[in-house]
Amino acid sequence: MNKKTIRDIDLHGKRVLVRVDFNVPIEGGNITDTTRITAAIPTLRAILDQQPQSVVLMSHLGRPKKGPDPQFSIEPVARKLSELMAVPVKFIAEPTSEESVNEVMALPAGSLVVLENTRFYSGEEKNDPELAKQFARYGEIYVNDAFGSAHRAHSSTEAVAKLMPAVAGLLMEKELEYLASALDEPKRPMAAILGGAKVGDKIKVIETLLSKADKLIIGGGMANTFFAAQGREMGKSLVDKDSIATAKDLLAKGGDKLILPVDAVIANDFKNDAETRVLPASEPVPAEWEILDIGPASVEKFRQVLADCKTVIWNGPVGVFEMPNFAKGTNAIAQILADLTAKGVITIIGGGDSASAVQQSGLAEQMTHISTGGGASLELLEGQALPGVVALNDK
Ligand code: AMP
Repeated sequence: MNKKTIRDIDLHGKRVLVRVDFNVPIEGGNITDTTRITAAIPTLRAILDQQPQSVVLMSHLGRPKKGPDPQFSIEPVARKLSELMAVPVKFIAEPTSEESVNEVMALPAGSLVVLENTRFYSGEEKNDPELAKQFARYGEIYVNDAFGSAHRAHSSTEAVAKLMPAVAGLLMEKELEYLASALDEPKRPMAAILGGAKVGDKIKVIETLLSKADKLIIGGGMANTFFAAQGREMGKSLVDKDSIATAKDLLAKGGDKLILPVDAVIANDFKNDAETRVLPASEPVPAEWEILDIGPASVEKFRQVLADCKTVIWNGPVGVFEMPNFAKGTNAIAQILADLTAKGVITIIGGGDSASAVQQSGLAEQMTHISTGGGASLELLEGQALPGVVALNDK
């Protein structure tokens, strides 16, 4: 990686300002998944090992609409962090006030601090330099470890990085190394599996992967649009009508590289307990039916395609995995990838739904790398530079 990291800079006695991604799911005041908090801990420990004066963390949480809103307070995350690291964590409810800055200045050396939700300030998403100056009062060195927010040019990810030396945290470094090397210098053959709902959302990803991968497997709702482009009747299946022409072009461009499911699980309703049938891809989908998963023959076909690959990148579920009866295809793909990892294949899971699907299948530990950033990993797969990364200092 060509960006400086916390290993390239002396943090001893320094006030360190760290952007983390603590955007965790909270239900009824309880954090239901601590993955993102845990993922930041190695960076925090590595910073603390350098004996800084203070470590001040900032993150967004959810999408508060109009300023401070208690249901989006990051205080429960500060408490959870304290519990997970077994150290005291000071929570600052009003980061932009002078008193708060003075309070943090007066803390003993080595203190860990969490600032309230950055999105409580309207300037955050506007990349407001004035808000960035307010945040900058908490640090002499900026560390960005929030890979999941690196595709956004916000005050706490971009503008603030211009105000002091700015380096990457260890999670950021790991994410970039795995995703970028899988994409730019993969061990070949390299295959990508793309699923999810719409072609329209992922056209650029498909184009980039068609140029970089040796095989591109398409599943999920996305495959429906390709079938429609081939002239197949799709019944009530989700079809991205605006993207049919694009899908035709991609089919022509992709040739043998582009691999579609050879069968599907169809259902007579969008419900877990709907009646189901397995339908070969050569047959029209009956009028009142819809495709909700890939079928067993597709799983076998994909297994064969992946068998000789050395790198596999996966983004997007291949069926409506939120319903157990239509999660079978997605779980089977997760199992194929787990088996490949065991044979030394590099398996990379893009964030978001594919990461949840792999967690849900219980096979998360058996993948080479699961990204913590859905949108950010997708933008990397599109071949885009991430503003939060661009803003960091070069080596
Ligand atoms: P995305 O955010 O584009 O990765 O899409 C993920 C969503 O795609 C999940 O909520 C899945 O339920 C949905 N999905 C996957 N396959 C299908 C399908 N065959 N029909 C409808 N939705 C699907």
